[in-house]
Amino acid sequence: MLKIGSHVSMSGGLLGAAQEAFSYGANTFMIYTGAPQNTRRSPITKLKITEGQEFMAAHDISDIVVHAPYIINLAATKEDTYTLAKEFLKLELDRTKAIGSNYLVVHPGAYTSSSLNEGITKIIEAINFVLDISGQSSPIIVLETMSGKGTEIGKNFYEIKRIIDGITIKNNIGVCLDTCHLHDGGYDIVDNFENVLEEFDKTIGVDYIKVMHINGSINIRGARKDRHANLGADKDNPRGEDKIGLEAIKRIVNMPIFNNIPMILETPWLDKKTNLYKKEIALLRGN
Ligand code: FE
Ligand code: FE
Ligand code: ZN
Repeated sequence: MLKIGSHVSMSGGLLGAAQEAFSYGANTFMIYTGAPQNTRRSPITKLKITEGQEFMAAHDISDIVVHAPYIINLAATKEDTYTLAKEFLKLELDRTKAIGSNYLVVHPGAYTSSSLNEGITKIIEAINFVLDISGQSSPIIVLETMSGKGTEIGKNFYEIKRIIDGITIKNNIGVCLDTCHLHDGGYDIVDNFENVLEEFDKTIGVDYIKVMHINGSINIRGARKDRHANLGADKDNPRGEDKIGLEAIKRIVNMPIFNNIPMILETPWLDKKTNLYKKEIALLRGN
């Protein structure tokens, strides 16, 4: 059975998150441990972890994913911002482990006023610093492929490869493929996903793929915009029409190579009544 879920809220702790995922027909899910745009976090003891894990076990939900807040920038040029990012990543990795998740998805970073090379060097140093403290039993830091807006690092497989090459503990590093970001970054995932995957395999190695983000895109291939669309959304969708298309997404999701990989929807949430996550999960499962 495909491992599909969506981003869910942690406001009710891990138990609330698991219950929300179950209500969508999901068998995995992704959470931010707090607001994605800040670094304020509740203590681990308040996250209802045991109750959440019991619920997950009883409802066949597994391989859950944590997403680090997108404001932490491991390529930051300002020394204090950089230090803060490294320290926060360490704490986030601890929380990921406490929750029982093996995957912490991280945006590699943005080099802002420095250079791509400097940015990559900083990211490598930060991840090695954190993994060195956390050791082999640490969850995997999963680098997300980015759309390439602004000075974002990770817009192509080669940049991700350069980061991975610098990581000392290779068992603790992985990659998250985001369909919207691949498309916006210029990869032809609509008609040539096999070639894209082959290029990934030659550059990095498919074994590094640990998580998938399944999203449509409201922009054309190569637009570098990063605006997610609902799966197969038409022009009447208030958040925009999907330019990837449901057929391409379904083909990707059903590739045997992704069988045991958690696939997470980050498509726009319209409102509770529409409950698009439930619909989109059913769509992908083919019911
Ligand atoms: Fe992300
Ligand atoms: Fe994503
Ligand atoms: Zn995105």
